[in-house]
Amino acid sequence: MIACTECTSSLDLPADAVEGEVVACADCGVELEVVSTSPLALALAPEVDEDWGE
Ligand SMILES: [Zn+2]
Repeated sequence: MIACTECTSSLDLPADAVEGEVVACADCGVELEVVSTSPLALALAPEVDEDWGE
């Protein structure tokens, strides 16, 4: 688990999350990109990147 950078709500990130993966906060809806997995770190995802692939 990691906290949303915007609202500090806890995000349930998949255990197999990889760098570059974009997740949406269920609480505030902001899109966050996984910038590092060790340690886990998130950053605001650029809005132009909609290539989620899922
Ligand atoms: Zn949030």
